[in-house]
Amino acid sequence: MINQTMQQLGSSPSVIRELFAYGLQQAKVIGPENVFDYTLGNPSIPAPAKVNQAIKDILDDTPSIAVHGYSMGGGFETTREAIAANLNRRFGTEIKASNLFITCGAAPALISVIRALTKYHSSEIMAVAPYFPEYKPFTEANGAKFTVIPADRENFQINMDALESLINENTQGIIINSPNNPSGVVYTEETLHNLAAILRAKGEEYGHPIYIIADEPYRELVYGGVKVPFIPTIYENTIVCYSWSKSLSLPGERIGYVLVPDACEDAKNVFFAVSGASRGMGHVCAPTLMQKVIERCVNEMPDLAAYDENRTLLYDALTGMGYRCAKPDGAFYLFVEAPNGDGRAFSQKAKLEHNLLVVPGEEFECPGFMRLSYCVSNDMIKRSLPAFEAMIHSYK
Ligand code: PLP
Repeated sequence: MINQTMQQLGSSPSVIRELFAYGLQQAKVIGPENVFDYTLGNPSIPAPAKVNQAIKDILDDTPSIAVHGYSMGGGFETTREAIAANLNRRFGTEIKASNLFITCGAAPALISVIRALTKYHSSEIMAVAPYFPEYKPFTEANGAKFTVIPADRENFQINMDALESLINENTQGIIINSPNNPSGVVYTEETLHNLAAILRAKGEEYGHPIYIIADEPYRELVYGGVKVPFIPTIYENTIVCYSWSKSLSLPGERIGYVLVPDACEDAKNVFFAVSGASRGMGHVCAPTLMQKVIERCVNEMPDLAAYDENRTLLYDALTGMGYRCAKPDGAFYLFVEAPNGDGRAFSQKAKLEHNLLVVPGEEFECPGFMRLSYCVSNDMIKRSLPAFEAMIHSYK
């Protein structure tokens, strides 16, 4: 007998992946220039030149054994020191190397934290809609209960009333993703202070901390000078899951970290539990070459000009046609209202009639919207505009 939950998880690809696969197939038939694929969040700007140079330099100046060998499970001390120094300089914190556990990206970072905080079948992890759909399998496949806080559909901050009514004694953590996939929204200081106040009060009521799990792969992707608050400076029981997949355009290299600040309740044991959970998942170490690259490039920031140009082009064009959406402050997603209020129907019609591939908001538990990943070529956006025009026209 095999594990049915895992069988189901493996045999039911996400709608995002299905749409992406459809696009690849169609490209073979009608030519890639006729497919307008807004599905994946795969960075379209190249990794900074300094990153590529660092890879070459490390191969030249470091013994091969050290480049390709194992590191300690939590990562090289020197890499963790470099990350801590970067965070302390930017956020005025006192993070030490010993607070950081280097992972193979944000996904395993999140899973190790979820596993570290939850007991099988009795613990709950919450997420705020709209949310990255993988949070659900990350939680449920690891034996905990997943609860969704319905979206604040006005401005995509956090629906505090719903949050307050859903938290219970089994709630161990709430995943916060800002800048947000799929809405592009950055949670404000006010939102985070309100959230912290609720979590403190509920933690006191239930006699255990309710941790914020801050999922931050888009931290560096913000436009127009918007600042992303560093949540550990607002709420003491915050565990950060970070990744360089988006900020340095390195998603295939698998590198990120978990940060458990000293201020977290029971920080040492939480850190041990993260380390133990990683061990239980077969984590040995994050890629050694990439750890060394991060040590040299931790202060690199992405050049967001291309994303910003896409954001403005798409936002101006779509709102000019009559689509409704908020101009996103961060990440590389536009979350647009479906003209007929049915994201799935719009996505299906756009796919079949125009080879225009957009992800229905239903996938993020926010019906009536659709997500457009604008980490694509500027040229593709321009070529796709007649399809958007025809679509909205067809609903008038
Ligand atoms: N969290 C969010 C919100 C994401 O959008 C993604 C990837 O798209 C991840 C986590 C996973 O990132 P990583 O590639 O670092 O595992």
